[in-house]
Amino acid sequence: MKKFTHAWLAFMAIKRLEETKLSNRDRRYANSLIKWFKSHKDGVAQGAWYPDSVIKDMANSHVLKFTPSAEVGNKFKRLPTTYLNYKYGKSSPVKKKGFTVDKNDNLPDRCESIAHSVIDHLKMQESEDKGSPVSPTDNQIALLLFMLSHYMADAHMPFHCDSRRFSEGVDIHGRMEGEWDDRIRRHYRIDEDNERFFYDPYGYPLRDLASDQQYQSSFLKTVDGVLRDRKFIMSWGAKNKNVWDFMSAICQHSYLLSYCLIPQQYDHTNITLVNWQSLGSISFEDLSVAIFADAIDSIARVWLRIWRRYVKWERKKRAKI
Ligand SMILES: [Zn+2]
Repeated sequence: MKKFTHAWLAFMAIKRLEETKLSNRDRRYANSLIKWFKSHKDGVAQGAWYPDSVIKDMANSHVLKFTPSAEVGNKFKRLPTTYLNYKYGKSSPVKKKGFTVDKNDNLPDRCESIAHSVIDHLKMQESEDKGSPVSPTDNQIALLLFMLSHYMADAHMPFHCDSRRFSEGVDIHGRMEGEWDDRIRRHYRIDEDNERFFYDPYGYPLRDLASDQQYQSSFLKTVDGVLRDRKFIMSWGAKNKNVWDFMSAICQHSYLLSYCLIPQQYDHTNITLVNWQSLGSISFEDLSVAIFADAIDSIARVWLRIWRRYVKWERKKRAKI
């Protein structure tokens, strides 16, 4: 995914937390995260792009690539039942097959480690006096959170979880991501000089009303509606216990989704710009809605759970004093 797609997804995750129904206790955690995010929002576009622009660990840490295998035995993890990739995954042509995972890839590990890092940094900051040489700054913590949203969003991109080489040939991987970024750039106002969105009065990306008519029939508008009607589930889904389990399940379902779009007999050698949208059982629009709605939900869930874990620790610590 591209720069403003990543930034937009991060903003929409916070918006999701602001608008969804939560228990009274989780609402308090969410509100403190939302407030914190809004005071760091100018850094979102740059921070959520950092893994591509500076870290550059794309080959192994932005991906977890699966290949169908004849051996059956490995099972797919489950996801929160509201997820669209979970729904589509059930009828994926490779659902009943076994799979192998490229052993060099580590996207779920990357997410788990950054999640720990965020909590560690918050704890260190809370424990140190102002000006302490080992105290992390708010900006450092914000950057880690924004980077985490990048890796999570990448896990939702089906081609990041499919060993077929869709960046080659006619590069439908690049074209698809380009199309998403174009749509966001078309429908939102971007302050290019300062590498950020212009904001609406609530602090979210400002929509460009000049293209409102197209927006009303765009997949971005559908994503908004889907999330408005979708219950927010705190759980990682079934037996998943942590960020690693959850992100592994996401990657598995991105792989299933990839085969819903591009069936098994196709790869970069026989995909054309004419046929790629009509080969499988899902349209590009429906696929985009699933990827974006689920990615926003995932970023919101992981961020909120990290934040909650830290605040609970902080409360306990204060109670002891
Ligand atoms: Zn990436």
